[in-house]
Amino acid sequence: MISVRSAIEVIVGDVRPLGSERIALPQALGRVLAGSIQATRDVPPFRNAAMDGYAVRAADVTAATAETPVNLRVLETVGAGSIPSRSVTAGTAIKIMTGSPMPEGADAVVRVEDTHEELGTVHVRFPTPAGAHVRHPGEDMRCGDTVLEPGRALRPADIGLLASLGVAVVAVRRRPTVAILATGDELVELGQPLAPGQIVNSNAYTLAAAVKEAGALPRVLGIVRDTPAATRDAFAEAFLADVVLSTGGVSMGAFDLVRQTLADLGVAERFWKVAQRPGKPLTFGVRNGTPVFGLPGNPVSSLVCFYLYVRPALRAMLGLTGLHLPVVSATAAESVRTAEGLTEFVRCTLDGEPGAYRVRPTGSQGSHVLRSLSLGEALLISPPEVGTIASGSAVRVMLLGADGVPTPPV
Ligand code: AMP
Ligand code: MG
Repeated sequence: MISVRSAIEVIVGDVRPLGSERIALPQALGRVLAGSIQATRDVPPFRNAAMDGYAVRAADVTAATAETPVNLRVLETVGAGSIPSRSVTAGTAIKIMTGSPMPEGADAVVRVEDTHEELGTVHVRFPTPAGAHVRHPGEDMRCGDTVLEPGRALRPADIGLLASLGVAVVAVRRRPTVAILATGDELVELGQPLAPGQIVNSNAYTLAAAVKEAGALPRVLGIVRDTPAATRDAFAEAFLADVVLSTGGVSMGAFDLVRQTLADLGVAERFWKVAQRPGKPLTFGVRNGTPVFGLPGNPVSSLVCFYLYVRPALRAMLGLTGLHLPVVSATAAESVRTAEGLTEFVRCTLDGEPGAYRVRPTGSQGSHVLRSLSLGEALLISPPEVGTIASGSAVRVMLLGADGVPTPPV
């Protein structure tokens, strides 16, 4: 049995980023950049006004006060998208809107609220220094600058940044396809009636959702009956994908056929069994570079193993460098008994503020009790040497997903 840490290291060491593909920018949200992006133009592309007001020569308005305003003749009005037809000369101004190109001769913008205009003359009531409210070409991005590095999952600001540079097509990492097969004679598909002894194949749905959330492409191959032939055929088909996930059939039962089948298909098993709870029977192997995860059948075990092992592998294949869910310090709000000799992951709720979370188990920690994972916002990590976590003690918890919070930011 290997440790959680060693299992993670083995898996991460066995996966490589996939190739790239070129996609249209509007489709690129959340996709991972395959190469760096250089600005091929200045943004903004031209000198322009940062405020609605009047483009002036700052030297003209140094003496302006509310009592003795400086009067300037208004030559024209320029809206954003138009080009000034005149130059600003001594004693003149051009009425200008935010984003309008600055006219020749002007070196400052007086805010409209600091002026009063009548009969073609603007009265400027405050001095305005040279450069005030003027935006310069390249202030945001300079032509030639590297503005985005590879390995970055594109966020809305990045999409806008690329658009402002005129990038309509972007090279991103290909998303891994993930074959999902569920082994078990007791399983039926969603929507089918349950005969005695049967349960819904919930794992396939859980894992497809988790794969999607991780940015990869699930390919649900359905239920595999617990016979050597069916198991073999299903895995053979699954190897068309970039990653193979199965659930069930990896324990000590008479119908647990996954490991033998994988060995028959030429999969090099890297490990079987991890010193953890839930999820101990996990097996992992590789065939021709394709990672194969034999996840345990119990619903909580398979999803916890997904978070710990599959998600980091998918993220590495996507070219991301931050592979793991964040772990934060917290305080145990009640005492918790955990398994000695195993790293235990306890499903917990979070109370209080980020930075000062108090965590509390969500109820029964049976590996078949998916409800307590559904309620869980985090997994408390109890190390192998710990058997009891005292109420009030400091613990480490892995956050399962940033969600909305009830408290507004300000
Ligand atoms: P196994 O490892 O195949 O013995 O499965 C362990 C437990 O997980 C059993 O109680 C199974 O019924 C259950 N299980 C296995 N596969 C699934 C699945 N796809 N969906 C829900 N529960 C499952
Ligand atoms: Mg089974």
